[in-house]
Parts: sequence; structure tokens; C-alpha cells
Amino acid sequence: MDYINFCQRLQQEIKTENLVSTALEMGLNLSREYEAKDVLLPQDTEQLMIIVKTANQYRVPLYPIGNGTRFAQGVKPFPEGIFVSLKKMNNCIEYRPNNMNIEVEAGITVSQIQKILAKDNIYFPIDSNDRSTIGGLIAANGYGRKKFLHKTTRFYVMGMEFVSPRGELIKVGGRTIKNVSSYDLHQLLAGSWGVFGIITKAILKVKPKPEKELVLETTAKDGTELLKVLERVLFSEKINLASLTFEQSHWGFPVRAELEGFAQTLQEQQEMLENEYGFRVPEGFFTTQSKENITIALPLKNYIKGLEKILELKQKKPQLNIRGNAGSGLIYLNFSGIESIIEKIKDIANTLEGDLVFEN
Ligand SMILES: Cc1cc2nc3c(=O)[nH]c(=O)nc-3n(C[C@H](O)[C@H](O)[C@H](O)COP(=O)(O)OP(=O)(O)OC[C@H]3O[C@@H](n4cnc5c(N)ncnc54)[C@H](O)[C@@H]3O)c2cc1C
Repeated sequence: MDYINFCQRLQQEIKTENLVSTALEMGLNLSREYEAKDVLLPQDTEQLMIIVKTANQYRVPLYPIGNGTRFAQGVKPFPEGIFVSLKKMNNCIEYRPNNMNIEVEAGITVSQIQKILAKDNIYFPIDSNDRSTIGGLIAANGYGRKKFLHKTTRFYVMGMEFVSPRGELIKVGGRTIKNVSSYDLHQLLAGSWGVFGIITKAILKVKPKPEKELVLETTAKDGTELLKVLERVLFSEKINLASLTFEQSHWGFPVRAELEGFAQTLQEQQEMLENEYGFRVPEGFFTTQSKENITIALPLKNYIKGLEKILELKQKKPQLNIRGNAGSGLIYLNFSGIESIIEKIKDIANTLEGDLVFEN
């Protein structure tokens, strides 16, 4: 890596002020090993292409970054190289409410996009942290609490532009749903954690806001009842389910179902859920929110089986703290003081075609 010559060359090629900052100055949400790293802030795609080509020439590793809210999860700490942030490339290029899509630069935050759409009662259905850039959300293929209904970011990317690791500008997909003019490479970039290229623009599908959103809560008195309620609600074709979460408390397992759809339909579903499982509109939310040591992800078909096994473990080790989002296939576990059970938890995930998502 020839960093000094790389910087000198960039100064000759790009005559923009404030091209360089540091992770600390930019307030990026990163652990200490990254804080002193330089961050390049191109103002447009041309500058970005020059940066990538010059970095290749001087063998300087580049790491795309948005606001750094998930960076450490996708990228291992690295000794050499610098960040490239698209924070200055944060414009809305074109919003087409009649076609239900919006074209944006990758540095725009998801909350800025939501503000633009809100005036037409339209939204981008993936929940995220307020500071997430759309480039970061696509690269992480992010999803929110309502993944059961809205899936992941990949499903909303119709097209994109990105700069390849060699510095070429590549456009894929387009503005129409029936689009055959290029490979579906934009689907590959979603979830690629910045490895295949730096996303500069994206065309996103958006949706009308649902007429009604409903939150209902019930409490399962024990594990057996919890499994029964989750299974019935999760696999019912009669419920417009968006998310199904649960926690544990001193009096059992509070379960929360979120529904979205037409008011009349939800009214009928609410009555059914009230009569069959005691669901009610809650006065407040349950919020014990224990911090997890580990999160496991299971395919939906194996979720109940996996949770049953975890509940069996809990009978032997009552300190095990469990919460989950059945709609997203996730179980969050806190096992402070009983770390030896981690191997059993991993075994459960493996035998049920699951994954370990996150380990603290
Ligand atoms: C409080 C909190 C709540 C959160 N809630 C959610 C949630 O509900 N759903 C969810 O999915 N996530 C959530 N996250 C995680 C995170 O906010 C999102 O995944 C977010 O999309 C990351 O955006 P970012 O701009 O911070 O990306 P970064 O963290 O900067 O980067 C994430 C990855 O994307 C790559 N990348 C960034 N920009 C680009 C680009 N332009 N081109 C190519 N690669 C790029 C990076 O190299 C890195 O690998 C949450 C985080 C926090 C702290």
C-alpha cells in the first residue's frame, strides 16, 4: 500500500475541499479500532470513480461505509486502508408516486426517504435505524421487525448504479417491474456488504401506507401455551400478520401481534384473536428488552420446534432468558453465568437448518 502517493495523486485529480475526514470527526458509530481511520467523502460519482481507480493503482484497500451503524457486523477490523462514505451523495433524484418508485443517491438516509414519501401517504416498508443510509441498508440487506410481511430490502430494489472494484460505473435493473434489459445484479449487491462494489444510486419500490395498523397483546402462562399461540397465529392464513414477538416475564410470556391491512378486515381478525387467545389492545408495551448474548435464526417451518427445544433447555437452566420474533424466525438469548450451554444452543440451530446471527 502506497498511501502517501495515493493521497498526493488524489489531491491533483480531485480539487474539492473537505474530501477527507476521520471516522471520529464524522461521528461514525464505530468501535475504537476504526476511529482514527480516514474517510473520503466524494461529492459525485465521477469523484468516486477516480478514488477507486487511484486506490487500485496504489493498492490502497477501500471500505464503503454509510453511517457505520452496522459496519462492525459486516467487516472485520482491518489494519490498512480507508473508508469511502457517500454521505455527501444524499439527494433524491426522482420520486414517481404514480409508479410507486423513488430514485435516490446511496448516501440518503432511510428517514429522509420516509419524509419525502409521507406527504402522499406512501412509505418504504423496511424499518431501520434513523441514521441508516439506503446504501448501507441495501448492502446489509436489512429488514425490520415486520420482516414476516415486508421481507427484506432486496425485494424493494428495482435497479441500481454502482462503481465496481475496478472503478467502472455499472447500471443494472430499471424503473419498471418487468425489466429484461440487464442481469439481476442488483439482487446480488443486496446483502453483499460492500464487497462487489460501491452503490451510488438505487431505484426503490415503495408502497401505500396500510389503512390500519393494529397492535394486540396476550400473555401465555407457560412455555406450552406460548408454543400453541405462536404456532396458531404464525401459520394462520386468516390473519394479516406483520410481526409476532414475545418476551418472558415473571407472569409468563407476553406475546405481541402486529397486523396491517384494511380496517374492516382487521376488526374481524381482532375479534377472532380476542376470543380464541385473549389478545387485547395493550395499554403500554412490554419492554424488558434483555440484552442478548446470542441470536439464532430458524426457517419458519422449524421455528416452533426450535423454540420448544430452547424452552426445554430453560427448564434445566432457568437463568436462560428468551425473547423472539417468530415472524422473522429469530430467537434472542441471554445466558449470562451459564455460558456452557452455548454449544447446545448452536446444536439446536444447526440441526434445524438455522444460523447463528449474532454473538456478543
Ligand atoms: C439502534 C439500531 C437499530 C437498528 N435497527 C435495524 C433494523 O430495524 N433493521 C436493520 O436491518 N438494521 C437495523 N440496524 C442496523 C443498521 O442500522 C442497518 O443495517 C443499516 O442499514 C446500516 O446502514 P449504515 O448506513 O449505517 O451502513 P454501515 O453500517 O455504514 O454499513 C453496513 C454495510 O454496508 C456497506 N456499505 C455501506 N454503504 C455502502 C454503499 N454505498 N455501497 C456498498 N456497500 C455499502 C458497508 O461496507 C458495511 O458492510 C440498527 C442499528 C441500530 C444501531
